[in-house]
Amino acid sequence: MSDRQRIEVHDASKEGAVSLYSKRERIQIKATKGRFQSIRNVTILGTMGLYLLLPWARWDGQQAVLFDLPGRQFRIFGWTFWPQDFLFLSWTLIIAAFALFFFTVLAGRVYCGYVCPQTTWTRFFQWIEQWCEGDRHSRIKMDNAPWTASKLFRRGSKHVLWLLLAFLTGLTFVGYFSSITDLSLRIFSLGWGGWELFWVGFFTVATYGNAGFMREQVCLHMCPYARFQSVMFDDDTLIVSYDVARGEPRGRGAKKKQAEESDPLGDCIDCGMCVQVCPTGIDIREGLQYECITCAACIDACDDVMDHIHKPRGLIRYTTDNALVGKESHILRPRLLAYGAALLLMASLFMVSLYNRVPLQVDVLRDRNQLYRTTSTGMIENIYRLEILNKSQDPQRYELVLEGPAGLSMENRTEFTLQGGETLTLPVTVSYDPYEVEMASGAIWFTVRSLDDPDVENRHESRFIAPGR
Ligand code: SF4
Ligand code: SF4
Repeated sequence: MSDRQRIEVHDASKEGAVSLYSKRERIQIKATKGRFQSIRNVTILGTMGLYLLLPWARWDGQQAVLFDLPGRQFRIFGWTFWPQDFLFLSWTLIIAAFALFFFTVLAGRVYCGYVCPQTTWTRFFQWIEQWCEGDRHSRIKMDNAPWTASKLFRRGSKHVLWLLLAFLTGLTFVGYFSSITDLSLRIFSLGWGGWELFWVGFFTVATYGNAGFMREQVCLHMCPYARFQSVMFDDDTLIVSYDVARGEPRGRGAKKKQAEESDPLGDCIDCGMCVQVCPTGIDIREGLQYECITCAACIDACDDVMDHIHKPRGLIRYTTDNALVGKESHILRPRLLAYGAALLLMASLFMVSLYNRVPLQVDVLRDRNQLYRTTSTGMIENIYRLEILNKSQDPQRYELVLEGPAGLSMENRTEFTLQGGETLTLPVTVSYDPYEVEMASGAIWFTVRSLDDPDVENRHESRFIAPGR
């Protein structure tokens, strides 16, 4: 044989390897109850309730939350945001990102397990499934049973209810962008436009597919957060973990009793309940895995088992890597403090800016064609164009005031009314008489002030150009 090594070739498919194209095993989870599932029920019901009810809330006789894209305005509880307020949107997204970082460092994937829309909708779909088809055992039995009238009825009811919830989700989503009362009323007259039909249909199909069929696959293969959250973990991050030292070696029943006399077993009786309740189908006893969404179903299931065998709870529990190896866990640590400080600072600045936000936008543009012009009567004029936007939802009366060197005057109407959301383009001429006053180029100020609300005022600096100076 040459000095090259012979490499043995094996048929991997015959050794239990999983093909990338193999059929996905459907996960039938067992329902569980417990402390954490009760908390999850509250957060999940809250998330769903908020999503479905928010577009129906009214404020000052209007839809309280409406992202009116054709009208180019976002209405949120009496505040109206315009494209000019884009900064607030960016700011909100940055604050949300920092909040996610902060809570991930503190408590791991608590967002995934308790409030993520994918988790929320999947949970609702699972409740419907359980209601129509029974518990895990009945569902597995039904999967393998031939089609009968009862199976057809139960499965059909499930899909009808899934589709109804998915449709409600799509309708509500579009209701954030178009008046939901009007949209709902137009269902009966078949009066939806093309875009409304498309988006309601799109979200109905997406919800039905994601929560009904894809489920944990979305978390495992589509969600980017699952991929990068591990880099934010440290040894003090709260994780769901199995206590290997206490649980192993695992064993059950008579075998366990027998073994206890010579080689005592750990507290895990290998009942498999923690695996049966896991929505992502993993075995937490194999260690922390990126598939774990920290739903704590395995904690509740295992606590229940421990209660039955009269052992202390907490074989699977929320803990930290440090605690598991007997070290002290630290809640306050530099990374968490840095995220917390940044979050607090940004949230405070955001609130202050929002509080001081004036519902009036004024832009002043100088005439770029001429620095100044001399009229037939000898006056020196500068031309400006003022863009004034009433950013409130109510009509407002305004006055325009010019401030600058003595001798300057403004030849325009100085009082006007704008409806809520209305923009006025106002040409303004500022002039002086060179035979009466001497004038140098310099700063001037246009102030637009509401006559209905003394707190609403916007002052804008510009420049007056005089000849030869
Ligand atoms: S539920 Fe608890 S006792 Fe049962 S297999 Fe899981 S870890 Fe072991
Ligand atoms: S391992 Fe436990 S906490 Fe993680 S997803 Fe499964 S049941 Fe939820």
